[in-house]
Amino acid sequence: AKNSDRGSYKLFNAELSQIVSSRAQLLLDLKEAVEQKQLTVVYQPQFCVQKNIMTGVEVLVRWHHPKKGMIPPSDFIPLAEESGLICAITDFVMHQAIHELTTHELLYRDIKRVSFNVSAADFNHSESCERFIANLSSLPGDWSVIELELTESAALLNLEGIKNVLDVLRQRGVQVSLDDFGTGYSSLNTLRLLPIQEVKIDQSFVKDIIKNKQDAKLVRTILAMAQALHLRVVAEGVETHAQANYLMSAGCEEFQGYLYARPMSIEHLVTFIRNLKQQ
Ligand code: C2E
Ligand code: CA
Ligand code: CA
Ligand code: CA
Repeated sequence: AKNSDRGSYKLFNAELSQIVSSRAQLLLDLKEAVEQKQLTVVYQPQFCVQKNIMTGVEVLVRWHHPKKGMIPPSDFIPLAEESGLICAITDFVMHQAIHELTTHELLYRDIKRVSFNVSAADFNHSESCERFIANLSSLPGDWSVIELELTESAALLNLEGIKNVLDVLRQRGVQVSLDDFGTGYSSLNTLRLLPIQEVKIDQSFVKDIIKNKQDAKLVRTILAMAQALHLRVVAEGVETHAQANYLMSAGCEEFQGYLYARPMSIEHLVTFIRNLKQQ
């Protein structure tokens, strides 16, 4: 038994070191990706279905690896957060999206809100606030079109530091959204301590809303709470009419998901908006 134990230990070790080295390789690749412009951004529209208007877009990063092809954010964002590389990615995403949207003259006129995903690690440095300000300074107009989406699990770590930065940005009009709402450990505490105007109901709640009574009740509770606190609510991951209808009847007003639009390039967004107007 001892021998085979040792054997499995070795095996485990070998697997582990392979995981470690492939992660290290991925991190090296990611550094290169940031420098060599392998990253792009896509936009996913959000809608107020009742009023039949597009309320905004969420910006999502994409990585086209030269050999491995498309790598999903869930595979590299955590790595970027741990390594601190996320700051460079956030800088790129903000610059690129603002550049593309202003080049195509979509901001302010057609698009009233642009949401960026930010990580707790984006707030970890003494110059975090200046960084955000520098990134947003290329905006041709006021900053109330900008929204930062913060995940509550991320916020937990450095609530005080995050609050200080958000307070400054709030004064300039930037809006704040709590992403993946309900999935973290202290959603209410985060809501209480940070200057938040919007919550996003996580897609894990939306997914089974029709079948799962418990999920449906939780979503209704989130909506009631948001209403009491005068928070906007966006439901994410809406894929079916049944989900949308249920959410609407429960009082949800803003929707994002494949049912309405998938994340798309700036060129597709231009066409998408043009078609919306012709409807
Ligand atoms: P998230 O912020 O919760 O973004 C929503 C994710 O759900 C996106 O995945 C989007 O493509 C996907 N999605 C949208 N509608 C639907 C739907 O109807 N059904 C399903 N099944 N999925 C839908 P994506 O683009 O792969 O991003 C995954 C996560 O990676 C994001 O989750 C966000 O946490 C993170 N992320 C993406 N871009 C950035 C970024 O620029 N910066 C940071 N820090 N994180 C990012
Ligand atoms: Ca988000
Ligand atoms: Ca989510
Ligand atoms: Ca998220």
